[in-house]
Amino acid sequence: MPDDEIPKPEPKEIDSQKWLEWKDLMDRAILRAHPLEEFGQTYRCDNCLFYLDPDDELSYCWHPNLRILVGRDWWCQWWEQIPADG
Ligand code: SF4
Repeated sequence: MPDDEIPKPEPKEIDSQKWLEWKDLMDRAILRAHPLEEFGQTYRCDNCLFYLDPDDELSYCWHPNLRILVGRDWWCQWWEQIPADG
């Protein structure tokens, strides 16, 4: 291969491993990239107790089973209401 030819990017073995790990976590959390609508209420990450910064479209979820970045409109089975006293 000539020195100036840049190899095409391809996923590596580590990417397959990481995908399997993340997929397992997504499945356990029933994590979805869209909100849950039930009983006239919308359950999404940015109105969940564990969403660190509700002003951001992407923020950190500090639920002990997750501890990952999530999107504002996402949802998972561990959603919890923010207490009225903050
Ligand atoms: S616990 Fe679930 S619903 Fe709540 S912020 Fe984390 S991923 Fe979103």
